[in-house]
Amino acid sequence: MIPELNKIVKSIPEALSIQINQIVYDKKSRGERVYTYSLGEAFFDIPRFEISDEDWKKGYHYSGSLGQPKLRQKLAEMYKYNYQSPINAEMEVLVSAGSKPLIFMIFQTILSAGDEVLVAEPAWLSYKEQIKLAGGVHIPVPYTKSVYEWADYITPRTKAIVINNPNNPSGQLYSREEMTYLVDLARKHNLFILSDEAYSDFLVRTDTFISLAQIDKSKENIIIVNSLSKNMGMSGWRVGYVIAHEQVIKQILKLNQHLITCAPTILQDYMAEHFEEILAYTRPQAVAMAEKRKKVCEILNNVGIKSLRGVGTFYFLLNVSEYNGTTDELVEKLLIEHNIAVVSGIAYGESTKDFVRFGIGVESLENIEKSLKIIKSLLKPSISEAVNG
Ligand code: PMP
Repeated sequence: MIPELNKIVKSIPEALSIQINQIVYDKKSRGERVYTYSLGEAFFDIPRFEISDEDWKKGYHYSGSLGQPKLRQKLAEMYKYNYQSPINAEMEVLVSAGSKPLIFMIFQTILSAGDEVLVAEPAWLSYKEQIKLAGGVHIPVPYTKSVYEWADYITPRTKAIVINNPNNPSGQLYSREEMTYLVDLARKHNLFILSDEAYSDFLVRTDTFISLAQIDKSKENIIIVNSLSKNMGMSGWRVGYVIAHEQVIKQILKLNQHLITCAPTILQDYMAEHFEEILAYTRPQAVAMAEKRKKVCEILNNVGIKSLRGVGTFYFLLNVSEYNGTTDELVEKLLIEHNIAVVSGIAYGESTKDFVRFGIGVESLENIEKSLKIIKSLLKPSISEAVNG
């Protein structure tokens, strides 16, 4: 008999989006054509750049746990240049193997047992589980509440507020006013605002994105995570970073030393070496993806499907409340009967259980339109049956 396993870990569900994508991979390996709207990726064209023999050899080995200095320098310069936010590359930036483990380390660093974290829905599905793993209490804030109503959820145990800007899965972008209000709130209640900026380049007008680093230049109440996974289309390389106050970075560094050691050395060096060249390829593709999103907005209007308001990322949260059954049943029907893969909205919070996430990173506009028409036809089965009859 296997000895008892940890209760918290056992209570955590598998990541729903990854589960759906496993079924998609299985179907594809059987030769089926699956219309894939469930993936959290935009597939960029990125050329292969040179890597020196010296970097190749260095790449066999560990590197420092703060991250390669040259890459941290590039990241700090990018934030300074884009968002007029001075960042000390030596003390305020840490690179690790993707933003996912970094967010885990941040919660471990800032939370003590029982501390509450407000998470604005719709919310990326790992925040909740990572808060629980850190002994914290996840407090979901329904998507119907505006930023100016979040204070109602603050208690003496509140330690942090999490935003994802622009938001996966709705595409919502936070305004300067909203973020200024949040930073004031954080100062008043002595909290952290964690801003996950993983999709900051996926906007038609990138100058409309305001980093939280622009609002709180002292960084006393903010922590920023970002990643090369989405903005630079390199999810498989596992390189992410955190920008925070030196005192916070010092604590995260210890966790990174004990958990990860370093992001792959060779990839950090490659990134640092070709940073601007890679951005010159990926930035326009991220903007083009946001333009595609705009076109999909028009298709949605024509087809008659509502979605949550948003302007960025490559996701939509579609309202499927008219379906005559549960959202999970709809997701299953779409996948099994129509080979259309979407993710159930419950993955992003209780308040979005009548929605599905629809990612447009992979399929053509033509296929997107066809699939949306199929989804629409299922939303009012009684009407389409009448038409068919
Ligand atoms: N934050 C958000 C909002 C995401 O959507 C994702 C990936 N889907 C991540 C963080 C994790 O990204 P990574 O670990 O690849 O940097």
